[in-house]
Order: sequence, then C-alpha cells, then structure tokens
Amino acid sequence: MRLFDDPADDARVIDPVCGMKVEPAGAAASREFEGTTYSFCSTGCAAAFGVDPRRYVR
Ligand SMILES: [Zn+2]
Repeated sequence: MRLFDDPADDARVIDPVCGMKVEPAGAAASREFEGTTYSFCSTGCAAAFGVDPRRYVR
C-alpha cells in the first residue's frame, strides 16, 4: 500500500480540524473562512469548524 509516494498527494490539503489529508475535489465538505476555502474529511469536521473557525485556523 502506497501512502506517501503518490504524486497526487501534492494536491491534498490538511483538514484543519482533525489533521487528515484530504483531496479538495473529493472532500466530504468545505467551508470558506476569511477568503480561504478549507476542505474536510467529513461533514462532522466541517460542522466543528463552522462553530468556531478561529480555533482551527492560525
Ligand atoms: Zn476531519
């Protein structure tokens, strides 16, 4: 199983809530905050972000 040598890995972003890498195109949810779009692994993470974005964004 290849985890870290996949060229597509470069397209992934970090889910700011749980720290998982997600592909923006395949993300379960996304939220925009202060002009930046964040992608999430699940709607649960997106909901947590929506409650208090500043907790997750530095
Ligand atoms: Zn997540």
